[in-house]
Amino acid sequence: MKARAQAKIAAIDQERPFSKVLTDNFSRQHTYLRISLTEKCNLRCTYCMPAEGVDLSPKDEIMTTPEIIRLARLFVQEGVTKIRLTGGEPTVRKDINELVDQLGQLQPLGLKTIAMTSNGIALKRKLPSLVNSGMNLLNLSLDTLDRFKFELMTRRKGFERVMETIDDALALGMNPVKVNCVVMRGTNDKEVLDFVEFTRHKKVDVRFIEYMPFGGNKWKENKLVPYQELIKNIQAIHPTFKKLVDDPNDTSKAYHVPGFAGQVGFITSMSDHFCGTCNRLRITADGNLKVCLFGNTEVSLRDMMRQGKTDEELREVIEMAVKNKKKQHAGMSNLVNMKNRPMILIGG
Ligand code: SAM
Ligand code: SF4
Repeated sequence: MKARAQAKIAAIDQERPFSKVLTDNFSRQHTYLRISLTEKCNLRCTYCMPAEGVDLSPKDEIMTTPEIIRLARLFVQEGVTKIRLTGGEPTVRKDINELVDQLGQLQPLGLKTIAMTSNGIALKRKLPSLVNSGMNLLNLSLDTLDRFKFELMTRRKGFERVMETIDDALALGMNPVKVNCVVMRGTNDKEVLDFVEFTRHKKVDVRFIEYMPFGGNKWKENKLVPYQELIKNIQAIHPTFKKLVDDPNDTSKAYHVPGFAGQVGFITSMSDHFCGTCNRLRITADGNLKVCLFGNTEVSLRDMMRQGKTDEELREVIEMAVKNKKKQHAGMSNLVNMKNRPMILIGG
């Protein structure tokens, strides 16, 4: 019965043209919304935030759960099928369970995927109930398999906890469990082969992310390891390492070693951008809509909601912002000089 109803909804969806609100001037249809739930974090990753920390917005400037759910509902009504919760660290938000529960109630409106990107520290305890509430996709961040280096890279302890959370997620049947690894030359680039080895018996999808410049993260071009270099190094040891087929909006180029349980991917935002197929929009924890990760134009949906604007008025502003989305980001050499938030205040 459920399958028949779903097939009917899918057929209706196919007939209905995609929302003009979420379609930009380059015909990109934005079906994927990333919502940052908090600016706070229980780690201090060097590539994400400055050593001195970031100025946090006052509590009353952070979106409330009813505001987040109102926006989520509006975007889902316009055609968003995937929402990713991020941060800061999303699991430090106290009402995370209720929030995921309420997002779960948007599934009949067309929301298919409730995803989270987490550092896995506070998630361990919360994971079963979040999965129960409808969270069905998980990205865990882990940049090193060495517990001492973990402390250097995150300025905090917690390596064992993250490893346990990966195993818990697998035991709960989450498939895939993605592991995000930001590769920095001279810091963890020599561990790439260990991460490939990590996929031998574990059904994880390790995604090597090119190190990107953001406010205060001291990015240097020589610390960026282009993905082609990583592939060459992996193929020197695993000559059978080969390309898999990617989905159209995948930001990751998928590969695997035949016979290994898991797989590997490369997120090549710097050396080979994927702006042409970008289907993502972002809302920051303080309620700004950001149409491009590397763009600094933002519009406050929080202020509009607090001024009592209607959904129709919100839609108009969202459409205007989406139509202003640029064809592609500014390019590697310009990005480094561009004013942007630190990553912790964007959410990845
Ligand atoms: N705290 C959560 C976590 O770390 O998974 C969610 C927020 S974090 C900002 C989201 C993702 O952005 C993480 O996978 C992190 O590794 C990645 N990230 C942060 N700074 C980055 C940078 N400079 N370059 C590339 N990826 C970065
Ligand atoms: Fe926190 Fe995630 Fe940034 Fe690390 S990458 S400091 S875990 S928000």
